[in-house]
Amino acid sequence: MKKHNYSAGPSILTPEVFEKSAQAILDFNNSGLSILEISHRSKDFVAVMEEARALALDLLGLTGKGYQALFLAGGASLEFIMAPYNLMKEGGKAAYLDSGTWASAAIKEAKAFGETVIVASSKEQNYNHIPKGYTVPEDADYFHCTSNNTIFGTQMKEFPKLNIPVVCDMSSDIFSRVLDFTQFDIIYAGAQKNMGPAGTTLVVIKEEVLGKNGRVIPSMLDYAKHIKAESMYNTPPVFPVYTSLLTLQWLKNLGGVAAIEKINNEKAALLYNEIDRNPLFRGTAAVEDRSNMNVTFLLNDEAHKDTFDAMWKAANISGLPGHRSVGGYRASIYNAMPIESVQVLVDVMKALEAAV
Ligand code: PMP
Repeated sequence: MKKHNYSAGPSILTPEVFEKSAQAILDFNNSGLSILEISHRSKDFVAVMEEARALALDLLGLTGKGYQALFLAGGASLEFIMAPYNLMKEGGKAAYLDSGTWASAAIKEAKAFGETVIVASSKEQNYNHIPKGYTVPEDADYFHCTSNNTIFGTQMKEFPKLNIPVVCDMSSDIFSRVLDFTQFDIIYAGAQKNMGPAGTTLVVIKEEVLGKNGRVIPSMLDYAKHIKAESMYNTPPVFPVYTSLLTLQWLKNLGGVAAIEKINNEKAALLYNEIDRNPLFRGTAAVEDRSNMNVTFLLNDEAHKDTFDAMWKAANISGLPGHRSVGGYRASIYNAMPIESVQVLVDVMKALEAAV
């Protein structure tokens, strides 16, 4: 029986996407060939890449606004390097918001390229909130932030309005809520949360920000080269891109980001209401910064741990333990997670309360 998968990533995809991607491995487009054995330059795969790139921009409301979408390899972690390589000038400077482990990993990489200003950090409070009230230096080459902190269950609800390029790591909440995406100049997101399997990263770039930093950029790290090659500079990760396309098509048919945002808000409210109501549990993130994708919570009394763990496992739930740096539990309720699965978890929490 299929489990209720709360894994933080790689994570749940919709049943339709699992079925169609499995079918494409056996026989892609009735071609008598698997998607795994055809040329990435074949007509059928070029069509996949083009539709995925166009649909990503469409769903973000960025079509015709000077943006390009790429599906690259190397994970979101490679974008920690590509962003400064493409935007930071020699002797230049970048501004970063330190809101979590992944933001901090991005900062570490930027330091290799030049002065890296941390405008604010919530590290001292174990990243339990999003820092606010900071100033971004106007002479920075760009500002970098992380929209959703996967490990700590916090999410930026507002973004600073700046006159410098804004780079945002949206790995764990891309396509989950409506934002004015034109406020960002580079958006990147590893596929393995809201799009597909691990192996590709969606990078959305406002073309006008490129080519201004005067650096010689190695070809594979040069956004402009990938754009010129239409995301086929080298052999792209064909299966993760195809699976991502299936997810984007599913989302489009559902009504796009606005439609999924409504469902995501309902799922998050269902779970947070139970965490706040049930005397056995408490949330770990500041209430105003709570993530609608990763819900982190603790048992008030660790003595109930074995009972609770046995109960959610018996309810066919998987992937609930929290990250080691927070402990407790983390329910990742990405786009593909149905509200019925969230209800199963809430019912287990209620059953624990009744049992102890
Ligand atoms: N940024 C965020 C917000 C993440 O959650 C993750 C992975 N969980 C990463 C970056 C790193 O992604 P990858 O493993 O694809 O390099």
